[in-house]
Amino acid sequence: MKDFGYERVHDVSGAVALLGADPDARYLGGGTNLVDLMKTGVERPTRLVDVRELPLDSVESTEDGGLRIGATVTNSDLAAHPEVRRRYPALAQAVLAGASGQLRNMATVGGNLLQRTRCGYFTDVTKPCNKREPGSGCPAVEGEHHNHAILGATEHCVATHPSDMGVALAAFDAVIGYETAEGPGELPLADFYLPVGDTPHLETALPSGALITGVTLPPAPVAAASRYRKVRERASYAFAIGSIAAALDVRDGVVREVRLAYGAVASRPWRAHAAERALTGGPASAEAFAAAADAELAAASPLPRNGYKVTLLRNLTVAVLTELTEEAAR
Ligand SMILES: Cc1cc2nc3c(=O)[nH]c(=O)nc-3n(C[C@H](O)[C@H](O)[C@H](O)COP(=O)(O)OP(=O)(O)OC[C@H]3O[C@@H](n4cnc5c(N)ncnc54)[C@H](O)[C@@H]3O)c2cc1C
Ligand code: SF4
Repeated sequence: MKDFGYERVHDVSGAVALLGADPDARYLGGGTNLVDLMKTGVERPTRLVDVRELPLDSVESTEDGGLRIGATVTNSDLAAHPEVRRRYPALAQAVLAGASGQLRNMATVGGNLLQRTRCGYFTDVTKPCNKREPGSGCPAVEGEHHNHAILGATEHCVATHPSDMGVALAAFDAVIGYETAEGPGELPLADFYLPVGDTPHLETALPSGALITGVTLPPAPVAAASRYRKVRERASYAFAIGSIAAALDVRDGVVREVRLAYGAVASRPWRAHAAERALTGGPASAEAFAAAADAELAAASPLPRNGYKVTLLRNLTVAVLTELTEEAAR
């Protein structure tokens, strides 16, 4: 590992100033992803700016009935927060589905959003990878890609975003707040992650050196009836091979409102707008749920060894929406 400096900051402006003065420095949250990448040589920062003592560690209700979540709230505290569990249960479930108890005690909301892909070529510095080394190629297209993207990918990169938390945030229209030397800014999650295109190394629309300060969830009464379901290759301590965050308001057998987002299928949490449109105002039936998933997944371009994800996502959609419909009827 290359030598690096370390600084602990106590105020937001001080943190932003340090990154402004040294573009090769990195913010350090829980370090559960960044430090691993430093050990393998994927990341080689000159300095770590530890943000964990910034006053960004609270979850608060907003005046309009939403929630504001600080960037340094740990994954454990987020999942345990009573208002998150009551008003956005799929978010608490998604966070709890990730990593392990020890990791969730360290990992922060800001770091979770910016964790990097688990594509094996990206983390192996002896291999080419367009994301790590632009222009070097994407061996995953012809090689190991059973857990790679089926939606929104290009021949330049087929990696998935690994976050479970981000999938629930996508379903609930989260807005990411950040601070730069020029002042604060906001990005809806839908605009936060950039399309892959031919620049997979450019992952987010965050300005250079920006510090994520928090995430705001707008009020969403539908979110109280929500669920996160994750499929993985072993029962714990594994990333998703497919996941869904779903919320459903169904009355008299008719879908009044629905939110759907998929995980482990694209370079970002995938909001399933086509499926939502297909369902809204129609019957809450297994046939309709399957047809809605088909409408969304019509855009899928699976690789030779990850076509199973299309069936997996279709089945997850039907199963989770059926469960939510049955619960609404009780
Ligand atoms: C074995 C293992 C299993 C895992 N399984 C899962 C899983 O199943 N599901 C899942 O979702 N995740 C999983 N994770 C990933 C884990 O959730 C992330 O590592 C974690 O959320 C990252 O948070 P962190 O605070 O530790 O980030 P760090 O490692 O500290 O930082 C990650 C990135 O974010 C940047 N950063 C951190 N905070 C800020 C900020 N406030 N503003 C701007 N930039 C910032 C850092 O500079 C760095 O680039 C797993 C991790 C491990 C090691
Ligand atoms: S899928 Fe993306 S991260 Fe993986 S090797 Fe290809 S370019 Fe790199």
